Amino acid sequence: FVSFRDVQKSYDGETLVVKGFNLDIAKGEFITLLGPSGSGKTTCLMMTAGFEVPTHGDILLKGTPINSMPPHKRGLGIVFQNYALFPHMTVAENLAFPLEVRSLPKAERAAKVQRALEMVRLGSFGDRRPAQLSGGQQQRVALARALVFEPDVVLMDEPLGALDKNLREEMQFEIKHIHENLGVTMIYVTHDQSEALTMSDRIAVFNDGVVQQLATPQELYERPANAFVARFIGENN
Ligand code: ATP
Repeated sequence: FVSFRDVQKSYDGETLVVKGFNLDIAKGEFITLLGPSGSGKTTCLMMTAGFEVPTHGDILLKGTPINSMPPHKRGLGIVFQNYALFPHMTVAENLAFPLEVRSLPKAERAAKVQRALEMVRLGSFGDRRPAQLSGGQQQRVALARALVFEPDVVLMDEPLGALDKNLREEMQFEIKHIHENLGVTMIYVTHDQSEALTMSDRIAVFNDGVVQQLATPQELYERPANAFVARFIGENN
């Protein structure tokens, strides 16, 4: 459904920060890119989103190479850690905004917004402003905003990084619930081992631009491929 074929990336024309990434993601799969800071996870997500171009190799979406496709044509839902909502707009207006840009009829817009808000259990919060919501609720709005176009692939980069531990766990559950209910294909970036182990179908463990192991959580835990993976998976945050 999403494929990476020998994808490499250099920002300075010299050093490769992604050194030949290969991965075939099945429809509906929850894939996590896990690894320490600076290992190349975000760069892979940015190339998938279309904000960065691979230096070498191809990314394919449903069989089509997308290296030169602009971000808005890719039909992806995107959630980042810094989920800036427009403070002067209500929650519903924040969600409707990208739909307005695409000149969808008003009634259809409202229906899509309401459906997305209900998916994150904020059906009655459409008239609030972001400042009147808790951190977790704001993050759920960001999630709803990524779902409003009904994408079949969702990209998330450390979406829970700013939340405290309890809220993180609640949101992990929420994201899994959405993933299972909608059947979306998920590419999720985190440096948090326990988060990756709890949520993923498969995990690609990155270090220094190279995937050290691609495996299910259980395989990673029971049969780490090398000392780096064993150490990294065993660490507590
Ligand atoms: P983090 O969790 O800290 O975001 P990461 O694993 O996602 O880390 P990347 O953000 O992909 O790693 O960064 C990989 C390497 O590429 C790092 O050495 C980083 O400094 C470098 N890098 C990332 N973005 C850019 C950029 N826009 N210009 C130049 N170098 C960059």
